[in-house]
Amino acid sequence: MSESSSPDQIRAALTGGVPMGRWREGLMFDGINPTPGIASASNWFPRTEEVQPDEMRIIFMGTAPFIRPGQMNTSILVQLGNGENFIFDFGEGAVANYIAAGFALNELDKVFITHLHVDHFGSLPYLYMFGGWAGRWHKKLRVFGPSGRDPEYGTAAMVDGMQRMLGWHRDAFSVFPVGQGHDIEVNEFDFRDNGGVVYDENGVRVIHWQRSHAKDGASGYRLDWNGLSVVWTGDGRPSRLDEQYAAGADVYITETQTELVAISSGVQGVPPFLGRYTIDTHHTPGYAAGYLASKVQPRLFMTTHMPFDPYVNEETVAEIRHHWKGPFHFGAPDGIVVNVNADDIWVREGILPDYPNSRAPQFDFDDGQLVVPHPPTSREEIQEPFVREQEIDPAEYYPEGYHPELLRRWPVDGDLVIPADQMPPAMFAGMSQSWQHRRAYEQHLADLAADE
Ligand SMILES: [Zn+2]
Ligand SMILES: [Zn+2]
Repeated sequence: MSESSSPDQIRAALTGGVPMGRWREGLMFDGINPTPGIASASNWFPRTEEVQPDEMRIIFMGTAPFIRPGQMNTSILVQLGNGENFIFDFGEGAVANYIAAGFALNELDKVFITHLHVDHFGSLPYLYMFGGWAGRWHKKLRVFGPSGRDPEYGTAAMVDGMQRMLGWHRDAFSVFPVGQGHDIEVNEFDFRDNGGVVYDENGVRVIHWQRSHAKDGASGYRLDWNGLSVVWTGDGRPSRLDEQYAAGADVYITETQTELVAISSGVQGVPPFLGRYTIDTHHTPGYAAGYLASKVQPRLFMTTHMPFDPYVNEETVAEIRHHWKGPFHFGAPDGIVVNVNADDIWVREGILPDYPNSRAPQFDFDDGQLVVPHPPTSREEIQEPFVREQEIDPAEYYPEGYHPELLRRWPVDGDLVIPADQMPPAMFAGMSQSWQHRRAYEQHLADLAADE
């Protein structure tokens, strides 16, 4: 064992150059600190942390208009400490990142769509069909979105068209215990109703307003809960309405297009006139993004819906910094995680695996049982016998002595009802994680009430 250094030497070494309240460090780190309850301040690892009772967690599940392996189309997940999840936009490919982030498809039941460009809702058909298969048996998929100037351009018309597109798939999956899994509750709001409330349940409020995005029927959203707020503008030109409805949001997220039309045309292959025209009719330039942030004055400003490339990123920061000097972080690439509570905000890169396995379907066990609905149909009803009769007798290919018990007919007549205490413990534990989190939140509220 070595002799201790002197107290003066230890103090000089450990506090030298460290602010410790003596001066302010950095230009933009007020209120930017790791929040309690995170397992690692450096990275977020799926399934290692619960959202804390007073906390909001935002995960960027898709971050670009041009899909590519590291950047799926736009989608932002907002998770609340009360156990609720809200999806804002659900672009093509983003569903893979939800799986990688450890979410069960049947937990994803509320989708708010800003507008009907396909890079903002392309994952919806997959969630609708496979979410119904994977346990969304007792609740409808809820889709929220704007009307159009004509009914044919509204969210309800898109959902109707999607259901028609999926006619074969839906009927084929009706041999499974889908329950309500094939039902969609469409909440189409009047796109002109600026400031209108589209969602108001369990202390969570979501409002919307118009965005100028070339065609009527594009909206921005703001979610408020527990004194915390997040804004996702969706796509659109910078507008007075954004300033008004996003004012004071804790986390303000806008899309942006950086002023690099000529360079980007060479790099990305978009002809410059097409790039310039697209920005000037549809999007928020980098300077305007920073300008809006300076008006909104969020605790953290973020931009997304952009190529996350080194040659773009530095320019984007420079343009944003022209007007906005406060905390800023890219909402890209995919997997960026933001924890927000009343005091602190922390941004990390999430580590999303390339080959994740799905989380077990999550069920509500308040009634102490799992109800598996009876399938609406059977193979016999939707398939002619001929092709089934051509199936090879399993005795021909299973090895001698290997005789799995096959499940070729649904084994019960009505609903299958399994008391929770009769489920295999590992199955119950895997399927009840969200429910246990919500129960813990209710207990937290009860404890707070008891303390008062
Ligand atoms: Zn877009
Ligand atoms: Zn768009």
